[in-house]
Amino acid sequence: MFQKLCEKIDNSKQSVVDIQKLLISIPALAPESDGDGETKKAEALIEYLKKESFPEPENYPAPDKRVSSGERPNIVYRIKGKDSSRCVWVMSHLDIVPAGELSLWDTEPFKLKIDGDKIIGRGVEDNHHGGVASYIAVKALLDMGITPKYDVCLLFVADEEVGSVYGIQYLLDKHNLFGKDDLILVPDSGDPTGADIEVAEKSIVWIKVETKGQQCHASRPDQGKNAFKAASNLAVKIEELYEIFDKKEDLFNPPISTFEPTKKEANVPNVNTIPGDDVFYVDCRVLPDYKLTEVEAKIREMADEIEKKFDVSITISHTQRAKAAPVTSSDSHVVKALSKAIGKVYEIEPKPIGIGGGTVAGHIRKKGFPVAVWSKIHETAHQPNEYTYISNILGDAKVFAHIFTE
Ligand SMILES: [Zn+2]
Repeated sequence: MFQKLCEKIDNSKQSVVDIQKLLISIPALAPESDGDGETKKAEALIEYLKKESFPEPENYPAPDKRVSSGERPNIVYRIKGKDSSRCVWVMSHLDIVPAGELSLWDTEPFKLKIDGDKIIGRGVEDNHHGGVASYIAVKALLDMGITPKYDVCLLFVADEEVGSVYGIQYLLDKHNLFGKDDLILVPDSGDPTGADIEVAEKSIVWIKVETKGQQCHASRPDQGKNAFKAASNLAVKIEELYEIFDKKEDLFNPPISTFEPTKKEANVPNVNTIPGDDVFYVDCRVLPDYKLTEVEAKIREMADEIEKKFDVSITISHTQRAKAAPVTSSDSHVVKALSKAIGKVYEIEPKPIGIGGGTVAGHIRKKGFPVAVWSKIHETAHQPNEYTYISNILGDAKVFAHIFTE
């Protein structure tokens, strides 16, 4: 039966082009990006899927006065399985990011460009690739009259790109959609081979270091306190964090926690003034084994030392802070089913991996549900000339179809 399903999916190339063409033509931008939300795009999708004999969807709209429809749609297509004790979810997002600098595009961002197997345009990969693959898989089941093993739910959420408050976070807070035994797939990240299954993330904290000294003429350092010099000593000292928090976890690449001084704000405009103020930032990606408070306490300790040595005052704060969600076990149903399906379709050995920053899956994992983030993509999201391959969408659809039926 799976072979027949694969043949059906292989013949769906035109469907991929048609639905990508439709989705790309209705840019769903968040109000934060001067957009009007996802309603028009969701309506077009619903109308399209109705013609493709999909059942009526459920909608769990999050109220949002900033958009003209007054709400952000969260759409669920539920296909009954032989056994409704659990559900296989595929979650993709309706919203996109702006096109960005238009001169960097070789094509019109909101008009689908087809170049053989390659399709180009804003959103084709992030996240139409995953959403369309899930649609193609279900469409093949419906057309062939195959009932999936468990219920299958295609979830199209709003607001993924600017924080998920009106999307998955809203659903997790207000609606009990997920069951403990459900398999949750998020095809919104991946690699060109299709081997990487993302199951874990590091904690992240962006530290802001503000140093106050005293400005003076550069010829009389004795009359001031050089904030830049003090801060630079701290920036060097922060390197010691690598030795203090030195655990290794091979799931991640790199397998260690990282602590990197990054952004530096401008201080004085001229060379012959000793700066009285200095601001720099440190990007910390910390293995889930460590508490962020431990890292922050160490940084504070180091700052205390520098304050004493240079007679300055240092304020430590953060501009972003997110504790890592619980790791999804490599033995979870979702990772096992996905691994088996990837092996079968792409004939490769998939491997669970951890990544350095927070993803939308983290919200779901924090509520205790295992989630696998996966797709076979080239990671061109948010870039000019964003692209993906039709053959990879069809391949990913086969992977989903395998999970739905096996
Ligand atoms: Zn995305």
